[in-house]
Amino acid sequence: MTIQEFDLPARWRSLLTEHFSEAIHNVQMSWPEKQSLDVSYRVIESFDPDFAIDIVEHPELNTQAANTAIGLLLTEMGAGNIVAFIRIVDLPPDCSRTVRQLRSEDLGLMISVEAIATRISGVRPRTYEGTFECVACGHRTRISQPNEQELIEPVECFEIDGGCSRRKGQTRFVQRIEESILIDSQFIELQEPPENLRGGIQPERILCIAEHDLAGKLNPGDRVTANGMLFVRSQRKSGKETPIFDIFLRIHSIEREEIPLEEIQISDEEEHEIKELARREDVYDILKQSIAPSIFGMNPQKESLMLQLFGGVSGKNADGTRVRGDIHILLMGDPGVAKSQLLSYMSEISPRGRFTSGMSASAAGLTAAAVQDSTADGRWTLEAGALALADLGLAAIDEFDKMNENDRSSMHEAMEQQRISISKAGINATLSTRCAILAAANPKSGRFQSVSEVPFTNQINLKPPLLSRFDIIWLLTDEPQQDKDKMIANHIIETRMSATSELLIDQGGATDPSRKSNQAGVTKHAGLHIVGRDLMRKYIAYAKRNVHPKLTEDARKSIVDFYVETRRKGGEQTDSVAITARSIEGLYRLAQASARIRLSDEATIEDSNRAIRLVSLWRYDLMGEDYDETTINSGKKGNARNRERTIVEIVRRLTLETGENALLIDVLNESEQLQISRDVAEDIIERLNRDGTLFRPSYETLSTAR
Ligand code: ADP
Ligand code: MG
Repeated sequence: MTIQEFDLPARWRSLLTEHFSEAIHNVQMSWPEKQSLDVSYRVIESFDPDFAIDIVEHPELNTQAANTAIGLLLTEMGAGNIVAFIRIVDLPPDCSRTVRQLRSEDLGLMISVEAIATRISGVRPRTYEGTFECVACGHRTRISQPNEQELIEPVECFEIDGGCSRRKGQTRFVQRIEESILIDSQFIELQEPPENLRGGIQPERILCIAEHDLAGKLNPGDRVTANGMLFVRSQRKSGKETPIFDIFLRIHSIEREEIPLEEIQISDEEEHEIKELARREDVYDILKQSIAPSIFGMNPQKESLMLQLFGGVSGKNADGTRVRGDIHILLMGDPGVAKSQLLSYMSEISPRGRFTSGMSASAAGLTAAAVQDSTADGRWTLEAGALALADLGLAAIDEFDKMNENDRSSMHEAMEQQRISISKAGINATLSTRCAILAAANPKSGRFQSVSEVPFTNQINLKPPLLSRFDIIWLLTDEPQQDKDKMIANHIIETRMSATSELLIDQGGATDPSRKSNQAGVTKHAGLHIVGRDLMRKYIAYAKRNVHPKLTEDARKSIVDFYVETRRKGGEQTDSVAITARSIEGLYRLAQASARIRLSDEATIEDSNRAIRLVSLWRYDLMGEDYDETTINSGKKGNARNRERTIVEIVRRLTLETGENALLIDVLNESEQLQISRDVAEDIIERLNRDGTLFRPSYETLSTAR
């Protein structure tokens, strides 16, 4: 049963008086900060189902009637000066569309899309109802202006209204701005969220118009559900209309996400599965192995990436400052050590992961840019870059050292304060960039030279202040190591052999193995337990939403001790990344992330030790431990002092990598590769053991004297 148009204001009136009289009173009290009243569709449905259906089918008429009704009610309450709007929210599921699905059959219906705002234009007033004066007789005509692109002028100074009846050619009409009604209006570009896309497809976008109090409400990067009506405009070519239309969305109401990472839904069974997994003793191994299983080795690196996915807890201090919880990691290394592969994998398993390059082709780059947009009537618009779009997720940035100057200058703020303030071309906005950053960078000279000869800070096109924003910096060099090389080669060839032909998949002759591993929970693969990507993403989202660990007394103490000790040892050190107070926060975050994996609200000594082990390891790889002036100056290789140092370093590295004492056999093997024969190495180990530099807990094992 359809409802007659003239019936609508009365229906709205009774709905509002029955269910919303108090809310309307609140609007009156808080106007003009709040200029609209949210009406839940569910309330309308239970009030009158036919009425509810009519709203979805005839949204334009209904919103007009609703606004008239609230206007009248406010006038009756003695608040006639207030202009307020009804905004219908919580639309039913059958209204929801993806940006991709928006088609002409949806024209005129109320629809709802989940999207990210990618661009916003400046807010400008537009004529909503124009008052025009006839220059011949001075009579004024009012004309409402539904069209944003074109001002409609009177065609005649109508006699019935009291005008002089002159037509357009015989007189001129001048708009009286002070008597016209102007409203704020803004163009917003919405993009479908990337997680709904199957790999490689470009996300689709739709241009929207937000008016009245909705203008200026969104920032690029915001995730919203936008409700509204589609409308079309014919495309113009050299000033003439063509039969082709552009589709726009007139936004009626906006709902923001209420729980973080709302797009990731976790069923009861999945929650159960996650909890089971978190209880397992080998959960850390399983998760670590699940990061890029096709990439061989890199265990400490993968362990740190696992912590990065979960992240620490962001917090607010009483003084209004904010503590970052996200863990930033930099992979610095020679070409061909699988940096890009790791990045791309991480962007796929992280909720809201994004992969970009510092040399990004898009104008917005990593942070944001103001561009002049032809679709938004040539207005300046602010476009969000990769970091804003990855808000609450992970941004994997390849070729980080090649980012442009604009990004370089806003990157400090984006990484530490996790926001970018922009004031460009009349648009002022603050974008949130609350994401973890995983960056990769190559050395300036093509390959890294030994860091004991040239400090790494001279080998890379990134300045120390920016480097110090990273919690972890891994140095990945591509040195020939027979055993390892052989294993990598075998691993790569095995992976290649077990891959399925892409063409066969496309032709339907084979199933896509990544689809299967996407959906599966925990599977066994070449003897290793692997968590599927879907479950991984849900696990991370679940932990981020529900677990906010604090450090135990012991854990806290161990971090403080480590810091004080490292500072003491680094006192004489001349290297540029001395440990700073900032790294305490880094350790704190890593320990929290480690506890999050167990879904534990307490970060224990086990967690802080994991953090300390990883931090000592990267610092050691990058700078050596007690790296002193004499080694830089002499640069002598192969003398006794250097051989001793080399062996101590091997033992220390192996201990850090495994978390256990080093095996004698491994130490001897590694020494041999560095041209220290077994016999000589055993002699040196004897000597070091005697003078207390190395410990020998058993005949086969070694540890450093720390
Ligand atoms: P980068 O970005 O560091 O220059 P890429 O990610 O492009 O390197 O990797 C180059 C190739 O080498 C990739 O095909 C990668 O799979 C392979 N590769 C390098 N190291 C490993 C490894 N440890 N395990 C498996 N594959 C590797
Ligand atoms: Mg690369």
